[in-house]
Amino acid sequence: MSDYHAFEQGGDNFLFFSRSARLYQLSEIASRMLSELRPPQPGLAHSPPPGLPPRHLSAGEAPLYAELCDLLHQELGVPLPVSRDPQTKPGENRFQTFSIYLAQNCNMACCYCWNCGGTFGKPGHLMGEKSAKRAITLILDLVQESNADKIFVNFYGGEPLLDFPILTKITLELLQHEAQLGKNFYLTLDTNGTLLEGPVAQFLARYFTQIGVSLDGNQRIHDIQRPGKYGESTWQLIVNNMKAFPNPKLLGIRATLTAFSDSYLETFRQLSTLGVSRIQLEYCHEPGYHKNPIFEKLNVPVERQLTELREFIDYYVDYISHYQETRDIPLASNVLDNITRIRRGSRFTKPCGAGTNTLAINSRGEIFPCIAFVDRDDFAMGKAGVDCGLSLHDTLSGFEVDGQLPCHSCWLRYDCAGGCYATHYDMTGNPRHPHPHYCESMKGRAEVYFYALTQMLNKCPWHLQRDPNSDPS
Ligand code: SF4
Ligand code: SF4
Repeated sequence: MSDYHAFEQGGDNFLFFSRSARLYQLSEIASRMLSELRPPQPGLAHSPPPGLPPRHLSAGEAPLYAELCDLLHQELGVPLPVSRDPQTKPGENRFQTFSIYLAQNCNMACCYCWNCGGTFGKPGHLMGEKSAKRAITLILDLVQESNADKIFVNFYGGEPLLDFPILTKITLELLQHEAQLGKNFYLTLDTNGTLLEGPVAQFLARYFTQIGVSLDGNQRIHDIQRPGKYGESTWQLIVNNMKAFPNPKLLGIRATLTAFSDSYLETFRQLSTLGVSRIQLEYCHEPGYHKNPIFEKLNVPVERQLTELREFIDYYVDYISHYQETRDIPLASNVLDNITRIRRGSRFTKPCGAGTNTLAINSRGEIFPCIAFVDRDDFAMGKAGVDCGLSLHDTLSGFEVDGQLPCHSCWLRYDCAGGCYATHYDMTGNPRHPHPHYCESMKGRAEVYFYALTQMLNKCPWHLQRDPNSDPS
């Protein structure tokens, strides 16, 4: 079991303790001493000091050595995080997030699309009136018994705006029940932006809380990676639609970075000129994803990802340090969410809530644990309108990170908490077995975010005082 992790990042040395989620910055000499220490046994706070370092200690080094030993004893004596099953009263559930695969079809042909335009390689399909009605009933029934007050509903695809009349129907019906249910619905949409115009745009601007538009950077890169179904250019159309959108504050851009993209920082800079308030950049797929040779070519090697992320963080922390109020930062980045999450120091023993607080409904009304499991028949949980309960696949329940190989011995285990079931399933065929490349990437990114946290604490700690995720309203 590894309960601490020492690493170097951006020229500084750090020591992270898994049990307490505490991060220490070490001097060069302390870091060298640590590498020579034989770690004390976890839980033995009063055990004899660990073995003397093999080299001779000078009089000046001895106190530092003793301090390091004390720190290890103290930190490794911290009890393991307790596994908590969120409490529900009889008849109550925890469902809070619903994804609706409205259109399993698309008018674009992006080179890296993980679900083949929502079709998963089957004939395209749009949600019709009947399935929509059943999906609405399912959501309302579950929400009525949910212990959550805020309910998030995301429209997804393919391109969900291909099925705009049904999107309108579902939206209005859900909102109509808000008061009676005593809940608030937050409606969001992931779109390719080509149909985001006219009355469609006006409707979304009125009822939705967030609209994510996919745009991959400058026109050249975007049009290579995200052409229309017939190879046509789409960048200019999407940019025009975003510029004309009635409430630009709702718009966020999501860009996917491939091996052919400009760097993270360069892409962020290009997108920052488009007048949106939020930019989310993600690297394409995990290595080994689907073992698809095209995806393998598109993947950015982990080393390059981490170098680019660090470069971006240096830029971004400097950029936000010029703003005294977090709400005044004109451009939010998903990197800031990750730093804030790490700052919180929460420790988790289970991964996400796929199938327990999250559900996805496909265009035929079939129910799955989350968007990433849609149309994987083994993981189907039931069908909207067919009353036989929701059955969760065995591998997605009862997970505890301390009892799961190989996670139980990983230093990142209470932050990663076992990772993403769906990605593991794609990479290894088992939702509980992470691929070594996945873990390498998670741990590498965590080190960069720890570094980012210290940069923020040095330059603009005020942005960490209030958690921007604490109140989505
Ligand atoms: S998935 Fe990998 S990185 Fe995450 S806890 Fe498990 S072993 Fe660690
Ligand atoms: S399985 Fe993965 S994609 Fe699905 S909810 Fe969990 S973390 Fe998200």
